[in-house]
Amino acid sequence: MGEIPTTERYISGVTIRLLLAFLAFSLLRACDEAPDTSAPVEAPAAEAAAQDQGGFQVEAERFADLRVLRYRVPGFEGLDFRTKTLLYYLYEASLSGREIIYDQKHGYNLAIKRTLEQIIRSYPGSRDTEDFSALLTYAKRVWFSNGMHHHYSNDKFDPGFSYEALEHYVMETPGGFPTRPGQSPQQFLAELRPVIFDPSVDAKLVDTRAGVDVVTSSAVNFYQGVTQEEVEEFYAERRQADDPTPVSYGLNSRLVAEDGALVEQTWKVGGLYTQAIERIVYWLEQAVAVAENDAQRLAFEKLIEYYNSGDLEAWDDYNIAWVNDNESSVDLINGFVEVYNDPIGMRGSFESVVSVRDPIATRRIDAIAREAQWFEDNSPILNEHKKANVTGIAGKVINVVVEAGDASPATPIGINLPNSDWIRVQHGSKSVNLGNIVAAYDLVSDEAEREFAWDANEIERGERYGQTVSALMTDMHEVIGHASGQLNPGVAPLHETLRNYGSPIEEARADLIALYYMIDPKLVDIGVLPSVEAGHIEYDRYIRNGLMTQLNRIVLGETVEEAHMRNRQMVASWAYEQGLQDNVIERRERDGETFFVVNDYEALRELFGQLLRELQRIKSEGDFAAAQALIETYGVQVDPELHAEVLARYEDLDIPPYSGFINPRLVPVEENGEIVDVVIEYPADFTAQMLEYADEYAFLPTWQ
Ligand SMILES: [Zn+2]
Repeated sequence: MGEIPTTERYISGVTIRLLLAFLAFSLLRACDEAPDTSAPVEAPAAEAAAQDQGGFQVEAERFADLRVLRYRVPGFEGLDFRTKTLLYYLYEASLSGREIIYDQKHGYNLAIKRTLEQIIRSYPGSRDTEDFSALLTYAKRVWFSNGMHHHYSNDKFDPGFSYEALEHYVMETPGGFPTRPGQSPQQFLAELRPVIFDPSVDAKLVDTRAGVDVVTSSAVNFYQGVTQEEVEEFYAERRQADDPTPVSYGLNSRLVAEDGALVEQTWKVGGLYTQAIERIVYWLEQAVAVAENDAQRLAFEKLIEYYNSGDLEAWDDYNIAWVNDNESSVDLINGFVEVYNDPIGMRGSFESVVSVRDPIATRRIDAIAREAQWFEDNSPILNEHKKANVTGIAGKVINVVVEAGDASPATPIGINLPNSDWIRVQHGSKSVNLGNIVAAYDLVSDEAEREFAWDANEIERGERYGQTVSALMTDMHEVIGHASGQLNPGVAPLHETLRNYGSPIEEARADLIALYYMIDPKLVDIGVLPSVEAGHIEYDRYIRNGLMTQLNRIVLGETVEEAHMRNRQMVASWAYEQGLQDNVIERRERDGETFFVVNDYEALRELFGQLLRELQRIKSEGDFAAAQALIETYGVQVDPELHAEVLARYEDLDIPPYSGFINPRLVPVEENGEIVDVVIEYPADFTAQMLEYADEYAFLPTWQ
């Protein structure tokens, strides 16, 4: 549920983590608002970087397989003083928690991060060497991924320099390194050595391969000394089969074996990560004083209660209060939210997104949300799985002001919360589309669509309608997709029944609802889709992406692991296979290059409808075996020849497959110790921002 990672979207280009050559795919292309998007991709990054009309440089930097972008907050200066002050307090609350994700991912991440930062700040020798340049790139990758594993593939980075080089930098750099108490620098280095340099140690952050103990084989720091079976037993004992309002077990703790017993170490004030959480609470308390209205104030207060108690019922209370806050222009996500980094989908990664509403785009989403019941009633899912009353759908477009933790630097482009199924059913959910993030992606749209599209007609259609259709696809996925359908009575939530297949099945289900309606005249009637033909481009792109272009994001010889990628490949390859006899989707070749071309849009729509009905049945019944069969058969294996071709074509295009963002900086203007205004600045140097954050927001001890 949760989020649409940018990167994941069509890939050409979120989530999940959220990230994207396919960006371009998902986003629209050059339009009259984006005069520079046609800049040649062969040009060096700085020159090629797109600007908006005000000359704002969107692209800041490229390194490794990454591109660092910037986003603006349109209209910030025009906000009233109270709103700006509120945004500032929430900005501080977000950044205060930013280091938590490092330790959540791996117990050595903070030590590695701080060691690299100290070298970059203070190493007195020459920086004009291959080793130093490799170390700097490694540090940037660690910052970008909030740790030493790739944010998207989950593989541990090859540092690109030797242990001896690291030893030299540590020994020659003045100032403190984050050694353990009493540890010498040599002992510290010896301890870090296998963690950084031995590729076989903690190789995979999240390992969801079938047939392995995914808890012990994943490097993520959510479990210590426990097996998958022990974890499952531990929670099976705590769950009550007939509880209609179950808490999200395990969401806010690390589970460790202590003296033969399993213990949850809860992330709360007075618990694990208290040093950062106390700061979050302090800033939330400031925010309470300037809240826009009672509903928002109540939500902030409930969040504070939850951080203080660590009680998961308090978390549910907070989510209900948050869902009920629909009128506010400012919104906050701050907590342990998405469970993608947990191989069994229970524990939440810290993330925060502070945003302010975009009133114009919100009207478009409202138009869809008003028809939610029509979409439910006309859906191809079985009648018993339809909701009689689709409630609480609150889609809107927001502009991001700052992001932290798992939502940064790589960011989702859409968010749908809360994740608790019963809260969604009884109280509804909120969906947002991150408008200014999507706009930034639009401005750097790449040449991938041109390369993988069959003909000029497809390209032209994409250029004309791409932006509109892409935004609509996101809205439909979030507002209608995740909100649709219901579980059979007594069936446990998705992540319990479908376990590691829960995320890809749920994302596929939401995608299929959006796809099913994307060529429905209903969307034209309500004024959100220019024509049915415009909707066809979503089919073109989805199939291209799921069968080909997203393969750009994985290494040759590997299988598809990430939930959104599994979802998209599963949907596309299932539809391709089912439609073979009628040539619904045709595989063509031209000059040795492969293309997938949709021949019959209506037939493809029917196939999407069939698969949607089946996925809803799987979710409603909690049919693990069927979920596993679909994902493993269609979503995991890669044709090595096709994969090699995709990689080669992308290499010729020279587009980094993943993107992330530098945050704006909010600066309070004070007079006589009181804030009288808040100004926004747009830093352009990724390294400088990371070092600034390291100076300002390093609240956690290195070793927990
Ligand atoms: Zn989703």
